[in-house]
Amino acid sequence: MKVLIVAAHPDDEVIICGATIDKLVKRGDQVHVAYCSLNEEAYFGSETSENRAKRTMIEAKSSANFLKFSCSFLGFKDMHLEESIGLLIKSVIKEIRAFEPDIIISHYSRDKHIDHRTLGNMVAEANFQSGCNLCGGDKAWKAKVVLQGEVDLEMTNSFNFQVVSTVSEENIKNKLEAFKFYESVKEEHSTTQEWLFKKLEIVASLRGKAVEKTHGEAFIIDNYSPLSGDELEILSKFLN
Ligand SMILES: [Zn+2]
Repeated sequence: MKVLIVAAHPDDEVIICGATIDKLVKRGDQVHVAYCSLNEEAYFGSETSENRAKRTMIEAKSSANFLKFSCSFLGFKDMHLEESIGLLIKSVIKEIRAFEPDIIISHYSRDKHIDHRTLGNMVAEANFQSGCNLCGGDKAWKAKVVLQGEVDLEMTNSFNFQVVSTVSEENIKNKLEAFKFYESVKEEHSTTQEWLFKKLEIVASLRGKAVEKTHGEAFIIDNYSPLSGDELEILSKFLN
């Protein structure tokens, strides 16, 4: 199985589904993450935006190296994805056609972050258009399932998830290890890094318990069209 993750910023892939990436890769599935921006507007103190972008790219590559997924950087501007939506959709279509995923994971369309919302509202359409003879290129490809994942470390947003990917304690441990590569998380949130780790663990337990398992990562199904039996079969493989 091939899974494409379209992330607004490096670290989103870990927060949304780091444990699921670990699970999939360990059983021989292929995961690719397309990072739309480099989180370069999140610079603090004496650090410049340029340095921040450089550091973030290194952190993303460390996360990729640790969880063993491939990645690409689409080069869009942090906090400005919405303004570039026309180019962004073409860029995402290019990623879909190049990687040929069975499943695509992106953001929640009602997320509080504008970049996350932009992708949440766009990726299912990109996948639909990628399956048609649109936007140039010489091939069409459509993933069978599109999912929205959650990035709400404050846990103040309602997330009406429909499915949960079951993961092990070991997968969660590796998710947290991958999160540690992101130096940024130490200072960017109002809470301490230690509490962020705790929250990721709590969310994993809550989502797992929702389907009577110990740990999980939750998703909303965001297909453009109704799911067929084949599509449900792929989704079920992904979740188990
Ligand atoms: Zn983000």
